[in-house]
Amino acid sequence: MDGENISALNHYRLVHESPTFYLPLVIMNATAGTLKQLDPRVVASRPLDFMAYFLLNLEGIERQSEALEKLTELRFKVSNDWRVAVGVDEVIDYHHKWEERRHDLEYNIDGIVVKVNDMRLWDRLGRTAKAPRYAIAFKFVAEQATTTVESIDFSVGRTGVITPVANLAPVHISGTTVSRASLHNIEELERKDVRIGDRVIVQKAGEIIPEVVEVLYHLRDKDKELKRPIIPDKCPVCNTPLVKREGYVALRCPNPTCPAKVKGEIELYGSRMGMDIEGLGSVVVSQLVDKGLVDDVGDLYKLTVDDIAGLERMGEKSANNLIDAIEKSKNRPLFRLLTSLGIDYVGETTAQVLATEFGSVDRLMSATIEELEKVDGVGEKVAKAIYDYFHNERNIRIIDKLKQAGVKMSDEVEGGERPLSGKKVVFTGSLSSLTREEAKEIAQKAGAKVASSVSSSTDILVVGENPGSKYDKARELGIEIISEDEFLALVRGEKV
Ligand SMILES: [Zn+2]
Repeated sequence: MDGENISALNHYRLVHESPTFYLPLVIMNATAGTLKQLDPRVVASRPLDFMAYFLLNLEGIERQSEALEKLTELRFKVSNDWRVAVGVDEVIDYHHKWEERRHDLEYNIDGIVVKVNDMRLWDRLGRTAKAPRYAIAFKFVAEQATTTVESIDFSVGRTGVITPVANLAPVHISGTTVSRASLHNIEELERKDVRIGDRVIVQKAGEIIPEVVEVLYHLRDKDKELKRPIIPDKCPVCNTPLVKREGYVALRCPNPTCPAKVKGEIELYGSRMGMDIEGLGSVVVSQLVDKGLVDDVGDLYKLTVDDIAGLERMGEKSANNLIDAIEKSKNRPLFRLLTSLGIDYVGETTAQVLATEFGSVDRLMSATIEELEKVDGVGEKVAKAIYDYFHNERNIRIIDKLKQAGVKMSDEVEGGERPLSGKKVVFTGSLSSLTREEAKEIAQKAGAKVASSVSSSTDILVVGENPGSKYDKARELGIEIISEDEFLALVRGEKV
């Protein structure tokens, strides 16, 4: 969405009495939300636009620049501002140029993307756990503004950590109005000695929440003592005395049923990287907890249409949709469930490893710390966190509720061994019916371990179009090489 379209969308939302979109992250979610709408008339009524930057069918095209030219030729909307740069200096010059001129564009940008032009190298460059290596984001320095601290609040996060937040005199930074900024933690608040009435520099980088970077002490009035914020010793939400965990500086609310923590847990559970429950946003979650309709994520599955229709801004139709979305979440892959539980240090990557290694919640729950430590990428600290999570009374009760509700607790195909159990699989080339991520997910669900490079321990190489050097290496090593179709047949349990 570009700047003008956002205003148009806001206008649309205002006319229809919905909240206004204003932050980049919100805009991204609004875009995704709009595209997910099942009713094409709703999608058509919203002002969305896109610029093409990537061509999937690469036949005859060997460079990113050729792909962009081809897209232009095909009459897709393509940015006119891309350049082929030779050497790092030219990349840096280009970056400087757009850092200065970014406001001349019709849309907001927070940096540039640098890609290796020769696409034949892309596969050879491989990928990290999160992204391919042929492209890298080169961000601009965050934009800053000066404003005044009007008050300081303390908010409670999902893990109970208390975060000081400055309420600011509203100020414009890169196209948005900023009126709150994070002060990160109490130690930093004290170190910076931020006081009510201070002039401060705030900055905003990308989708990260704005932060206070500097206090302008020299602007303090010498004759007037500014008020220091009062550091709470009790949770601002549930009034429980705050504690510090051994080895950590952060103050926390230790109450496991603190409403602020429960809300955070439920939001994570329903988030897209978790169980992906559309419509379970913070406004809804907050009401569900405050009205006592849910005490934890396990209670979500007991909700009725009437329960939800009774909430503010919820009609019967949206209540029905939410109930459907909750129902659908019962069938997510195991790693999604593990990511959504909010176990300390267990993000998506670790959850995937655990799902592959243990295959079910029951097996993971009965694992010893020693067994957990042996898993790739799980050290002592993570192993203990997982063990503690599954031996905590409240968590055991939550898992039990989820089981009772019929949430899928394992990746296993009923009645037998998974088709790729224990096999090491590597992909090369572009697949025609799946993205690399999807292929990886399918392979893992079938019990495989997915690696990024071919070695003598590789069992199977799945070859797509334009395979890279992995193909040659696999042939050299005599590793089984199969096509995308054969791979799909294999995970369905068919013999190839
Ligand atoms: Zn609390």
